[in-house]
Amino acid sequence: MKSKYINLKDNQNYEKIKEPAQAIKQGNLVLFPTETVYGIGANALDEKAVKKIYEAKGRASDNPLIAHISNLEMLKKLVTEIGEREKKLIEKFWPGPLTIIFNKSNIVPNIITAGLETVAIRMPSNEIAKRLIEYSGVPIAAPSANISGKPSGTIVEDILEELDGKVEYIIDGGMVDIGLESTVIRVIDGKVHILRPGKITKEDIESLGIEVEIEKQILGKYEEGEKVLSPGIKYKHYAPNTKCILVYSNNNEKMVEKINEVSNEKNAVILCRTSNLEKYNATNKLAMGNTLEEICNNIFTLLRKVDKYNAEIVLIEGVQKDGLGLAIMNRLLRACAYNYIEIEE
Ligand code: AMP
Ligand code: MG
Repeated sequence: MKSKYINLKDNQNYEKIKEPAQAIKQGNLVLFPTETVYGIGANALDEKAVKKIYEAKGRASDNPLIAHISNLEMLKKLVTEIGEREKKLIEKFWPGPLTIIFNKSNIVPNIITAGLETVAIRMPSNEIAKRLIEYSGVPIAAPSANISGKPSGTIVEDILEELDGKVEYIIDGGMVDIGLESTVIRVIDGKVHILRPGKITKEDIESLGIEVEIEKQILGKYEEGEKVLSPGIKYKHYAPNTKCILVYSNNNEKMVEKINEVSNEKNAVILCRTSNLEKYNATNKLAMGNTLEEICNNIFTLLRKVDKYNAEIVLIEGVQKDGLGLAIMNRLLRACAYNYIEIEE
């Protein structure tokens, strides 16, 4: 059966969200936009409903979900306590693309936390997401909208084929604002640990006078059996079928030279900054934009396109690893299964 489609791309008929909100209450799935990426939502307090998310995505049952809330009353019910650092972060960054890990209360079912004693919570700023939560009156568990392993959905057209019929409703809000999933953090001994980088950067959090540590697996490869603070890190993600190689240098010309060198010998697709497009000899080139914000917006859609070229290899330009660049490099390294060439300046 096809999913029911609600078009909120170029209008604000938010009344239409009441029907899918009802579906959430009844234990069904709804695909909806947030400011980060699209999500597949279910009532976070309904174990059976949450199970449907794992089935629809083919997601590993030990990979926990984020509960999305629309007000602080919901938060209080889901957690045992809210620390001082967490309060500061909430005040500054909520609603927005920051997910905070808390100790969970008894009402949070084990299925959403994959058996952990902690629960990940976020208050999205996207108007459609906010209203869906508000109208349904329950926290909504929602992972990124994609079959597990694939790039996350940032526009409905990209994910329609793989998810149509697996959810009761699809709410189309057009292209999302950010294009990368939320920053996931946990406060341990007064320090913020970044478990997954996103739009809210280390520097943004440090500006509140809080110490920040970046988990080493964010840019490094996960080794089998290694202890992780965020189970999601263990799984293959964002990867096209074609082999991808990430190439980076602080010196733009050296990066271009290396990519040209590799692509001259192979049938390649190149993903590059718009300003570098003309510098490549290859025929198949896709522009990622120029700023880090533009690259975030485009990267998942582009990763979904590259397989269509039936190329031997995909060569992707890297970006600087600080600020928002850290989040982009984290996703690209995983898309490239850690095939990475860095050339010194
Ligand atoms: P996604 O739903 O695809 O945006 O992924 C959610 C991310 O949040 C995954 O990387 C999870 O590992 C992480 N996450 C969710 N709940 C927890 C938790 N309780 N502790 C640590 N990480 C979590
Ligand atoms: Mg995901």
